[in-house]
Amino acid sequence: MSARRDDIRNIAIIAHVDHGKTTLVDGLFAQTGAVSRRGEIQECILDRMDQERERGITITAKVCAIDYGGIRVNIIDTPGHADFGGEVERVVRMADGCLLLVDAFEGVMPQTRFVLRKALECGLKPIVVVNKIDKAGCEPASAVDAVFDLMVELGAEDWQLDFPVLYGSGRDRYMNSEPNARSGDLLPLLDAVLAQVPGPPVEADAPLRLQVSNIEHSDFVGRIAVGRIYAGEVATGQSVVVVTDSSATPRRGRVLEVRRPLGLGDEAVERASAGDVVRITGIADIGISDTICDPEHPAALPAIPIDEPTIRMTFGVTSSPLAGQEGKPLQSRDLKARLERECARNVAMRIASTERPDVYEVSGRGLLHLSVLIETMRREGLELQVGSPTVIYHEDERGHRLEPIELASVDVPEEFASKVMNLMLERRAVLSAMEPRSGHQHLTFTIPSRCTFGLRTALLTATQGEAIYHAIFHAYEPYRGDVPRRSVGAMISKCAGEAVGFALFNLQDRGTLFIGPGAPLYEGLIVGEHAKEEDIIVNPTREKKLTNMRNAAGADEAIKLTPPRLMTLEEALEYIGDDELVEVTPKNIRMRKALLDATARKRAGR
Ligand code: GDP
Repeated sequence: MSARRDDIRNIAIIAHVDHGKTTLVDGLFAQTGAVSRRGEIQECILDRMDQERERGITITAKVCAIDYGGIRVNIIDTPGHADFGGEVERVVRMADGCLLLVDAFEGVMPQTRFVLRKALECGLKPIVVVNKIDKAGCEPASAVDAVFDLMVELGAEDWQLDFPVLYGSGRDRYMNSEPNARSGDLLPLLDAVLAQVPGPPVEADAPLRLQVSNIEHSDFVGRIAVGRIYAGEVATGQSVVVVTDSSATPRRGRVLEVRRPLGLGDEAVERASAGDVVRITGIADIGISDTICDPEHPAALPAIPIDEPTIRMTFGVTSSPLAGQEGKPLQSRDLKARLERECARNVAMRIASTERPDVYEVSGRGLLHLSVLIETMRREGLELQVGSPTVIYHEDERGHRLEPIELASVDVPEEFASKVMNLMLERRAVLSAMEPRSGHQHLTFTIPSRCTFGLRTALLTATQGEAIYHAIFHAYEPYRGDVPRRSVGAMISKCAGEAVGFALFNLQDRGTLFIGPGAPLYEGLIVGEHAKEEDIIVNPTREKKLTNMRNAAGADEAIKLTPPRLMTLEEALEYIGDDELVEVTPKNIRMRKALLDATARKRAGR
């Protein structure tokens, strides 16, 4: 007979990016007297989290806790992006209920669908929070209808469809069950959580079982396992065994510390029991999905399913002639160790060796998933070179090629809708829905992942910056046919040296430059895009001939350089072809030919 605890609630908070999770949680902290989320400086703010702030996305899940009405409410934040889908699933499993935030103006978005699907699969019934009702022109009622329709489409059961709804504004700090109210406080939301979300089930006298959902690192204590206790108790100093799966031998370990979330941080506790979400330190070889058990009763909980990678690229030791000048070039074994460390924590990421000892193949859930790692390594001061991303194909039973397909939405003002349609159709997209939303068109497509490279930039250019594009992995489907990736060639530097304004001036008519005067060069570096199809070799170091100095007097003023097109890491990754690499250093992102020597390239081309 299983009972439920009533002193605790575990809820996940799920939403499309920007629908207001952070602001709402901040408000809850403020109203319950806990420390504000944005106000506090946390010891564990890593570079990764700087990236979260810059990119406006949650990459790693966090658990924070609020005390309300004598009950500890653990709020489990989830990444909003499908590239971190493995993580969404794992953390949602720690919860007994969830808050689904939907922007009253934007309504249901691709990531709403993605996170909601995960929550429904985990058997949760959402409390739907129609947020940002302070916005003019928002349509709370249609947002609720859209959530209902989406849930039906996702196969929700009747008891899940009977979801409670709250309307309000996280920013203005009110939530009500009544759609027209525009004042009050956020407490109705917490009341709804206490009333609607069941306390965690517990079995009396059952032996300890705790499943690890996430791994954190600390320089002081090493690996920290984050997970929920499903049965029994765990205490400081306790001996335990760790089971990876039923076939492997259980490993012995000892719990150094048990910590429970409190506010934004956590507190050490003597013991914790079934239903608690805890951090456990002291077990060196712990991994995600492992079960921590009572030594007398080793039994693995069912493994947490992990989303398969859809994209891969090579990570290599830098072979750039500029190696070591802007960062720390990695040795092969350091690169391997760094990547292995990442994979231990980032379970949807895989690493494999290649025929070259200094190159590894890393696969992940999408370009963002991999580029966040590259950016993190770069901020650690490292230099590396990465290859062009390619999607991972599967085969069906009849040997037909399947490819990853994404679900993409584009919001644009009416007048650009047909331009967007053309652009998408050229890339083998199929329109699946088209809805007008207050002067805008909300277009939904399915599109091969490989055709989304460079798409955001193309959409922005075609719509004068107006398009809002979102995409998430949808499914593996039959291959939709070839699409040329880049129709123009590269301008490749012929030699080492420093780029000279005069030379760049002469080159800029032939295409678009990626570098400005003074940029360091090497043979094989891509300095620009050629306006024509083939690659050309250029000399950006050529000075004006001295003998012409007098004749050309005054010509210097005529040198007007167009500012170079500087690429972000993602843009560079999407841009390069199969025979090219991105050189990543803490200071620069460069694109280069894989083979730097022109003769070698010619030979390889044969
Ligand atoms: P998250 O990505 O879901 O964590 O979203 P944030 O909390 O960071 O909010 C995204 C943006 O929406 C920010 O610019 C907020 O200021 C804004 N925002 C958040 N809540 C509200 C709200 O209730 N009303 C309005 N009008 N804007 C909001």
